[in-house]
Amino acid sequence: MRALVLSDIHGNLEALTAVLAAAGEWDVLWNLGDMVGYGASPNEVLDVVRPLATLTVRGNHDRVCSGLTSTRNFNPTARAAAKWTMEALSAQNLEWLRGLPQGPLEPERKTPDEAHVSLAHGSPLNEDQYIQNMRDAWAPLRQMATAITFVGHTHIQGGFAQKDHDWHELRPRYGSRAGSEMSTLAIEPEMRYLINPGAVGQPRDFDWRAAFAIYHSEAREVVFHRVPYDVAAAQQRVRRAGLPERLAARLKEGR
Ligand code: ZN
Repeated sequence: MRALVLSDIHGNLEALTAVLAAAGEWDVLWNLGDMVGYGASPNEVLDVVRPLATLTVRGNHDRVCSGLTSTRNFNPTARAAAKWTMEALSAQNLEWLRGLPQGPLEPERKTPDEAHVSLAHGSPLNEDQYIQNMRDAWAPLRQMATAITFVGHTHIQGGFAQKDHDWHELRPRYGSRAGSEMSTLAIEPEMRYLINPGAVGQPRDFDWRAAFAIYHSEAREVVFHRVPYDVAAAQQRVRRAGLPERLAARLKEGR
């Protein structure tokens, strides 16, 4: 089984289009949330991703942009974008966002020998918490019952792994294969993982290219991918929408 794992699309249609073209064939699509907020194409992104996603976990921006919680904890730029997004979203998309489940979710396994997997937006213990370092990863790695938890929220591709006293950070080291760049992580038995596919629509690891991951359950590997996209077109849409300039500039900076 091949699962396409996406997170943090953030209304960036150009990045999503490039990712879907580069992903090749997959059996299921696991969507870790924050489909809207920041970017200028929230409805277009939802129209593409809604029918494709097998499972979707809500993100904090999905929650705030659909009016479920206030913008109080957002910085002024995120708040301005959330307000713009809420006004731009169709009634149908707003309603769909409001009905999304909070993580963690457990996808059904296709065969009994597949690893147990969970999906969350932020920490599986708290959807608003960022897992940025080993200290943040410690509690979820110890407490999660599943071997692999896919998470988003930080917009940084990679993750954390633990087996007994071996704790380490996972950082993709890309090699080129068939055009797009990728990095393969072998899933080891008894090791436990928090894996972040990176952000499709607003990477923050100083690499502007759209990020995603493919999980192969039989091969027991996760492949991290980076794919270039039409960033100038995405920036132009942000500027034309009258969203804060910072939201256009940061796309090319990858931060
Ligand atoms: Zn996000």
